[in-house]
Amino acid sequence: MGNWIIAGAVLVIVILLARLLRVQAQIRDAQLRVTQLERECATQQEQKDHLRDVLLKTVSDVLLVLDDSQTILFANPAAEALIGPNLVGETLIGAMRQPELETLIQDAQKVLGEGVERRIEYERHIMHARAVVSQSFQNPLAVLVLRDVTEIQRLERSRRDMVANITHELSTPITAIGLLAETILSFEGGKPRKTQKMATDIRRETETLTHLVQEMRDLSLIESGQMPIRMTSISLRDSVNASIEPLLTLAEGKTQTVNVSVPDDIYVLGDDLQLRRALKNILHNALKFSPEGSAIQVTATLQGGEAIIAVQDKGPGIPAEDLSRVFERFFQVDRARRNGTGLGLAIVRHIVLAHGGRAWAESVEGEGATFYIALALTNDQEA
Ligand code: ADP
Repeated sequence: MGNWIIAGAVLVIVILLARLLRVQAQIRDAQLRVTQLERECATQQEQKDHLRDVLLKTVSDVLLVLDDSQTILFANPAAEALIGPNLVGETLIGAMRQPELETLIQDAQKVLGEGVERRIEYERHIMHARAVVSQSFQNPLAVLVLRDVTEIQRLERSRRDMVANITHELSTPITAIGLLAETILSFEGGKPRKTQKMATDIRRETETLTHLVQEMRDLSLIESGQMPIRMTSISLRDSVNASIEPLLTLAEGKTQTVNVSVPDDIYVLGDDLQLRRALKNILHNALKFSPEGSAIQVTATLQGGEAIIAVQDKGPGIPAEDLSRVFERFFQVDRARRNGTGLGLAIVRHIVLAHGGRAWAESVEGEGATFYIALALTNDQEA
């Protein structure tokens, strides 16, 4: 009996030992796997760090991360190349001595998560600065990116100069061709019908060219800020009425009406001549694109310190995907139906921007388009 007990106990011990050995082997396996995973993680982390370092080194934009007291926590190599070495720990103002950047970060703090942008000058460089303050960590962190746009600005200036030069050079021969056509047309005596038609065609084409050259020159002047803008307090209704006047013949020819509903007590801050020109371009399009006998509505309302002028027509409208593009230079929705320069709305946009205002369009295709201009009211008006 005793032997049986001993044999049973030995068997149990053997089974337990075997289990223990199996568990030990499993633990060893698990440890091996953990070590392997740790190695893999470390390699992945190293790869990530390497990738981040490569990215930060190759990015030519200046990148600074700042804490809430505008102390630099991180600076990429481009930052050190532009501003100087050992930036971490310095304050932004101490490192760059550029109060505009301090203001930019303060502005970004007011709109957490949104980018605030500005152009600044830093040691003869024109920089496009963008700041974003994020609240995702315990304390807000600001990321400041500076892009050097000196070269782009230089190229833009040479493009504008080139346009100004070309348009200047073109206007003399175009005028001469137009005069020659006029001379042929004014000859007394029998002219072959073909000559008469050709001279009329030449005169019409030179008029189109003169208009195009004039618009290109004006656009480049407005874009470069060389077109003087004299801001005064102007009556919006007077400005609207004055811009309609030169278009009345066109409207009459198409039996169209222009209904103006602009209160006489709205005064905006602007250059009367330039504003009339912007309004005239929009109204001209409304008449040009609308069918015969249709009516165009011009209204003005007040909203948050601004006057919103709307010009609504019943023309073909503009496809949704082209709405933001119509203000680009030379953009035309329907190239087959070209009877303009494609510059009118680009001029509108630049005039309105020079006034610190906004211009945009809304449309339901097939039902017409509405063009809007928002302009700041004069101070007395706001009060
Ligand atoms: P354009 O000299 O061709 O009129 P604009 O810059 O004034 O040049 O306008 C650009 C394009 O926008 C036009 O060619 C036309 O396709 C579109 N557009 C402008 N105004 C209207 C409108 N009121 N209705 C429909 N399309 C318009």
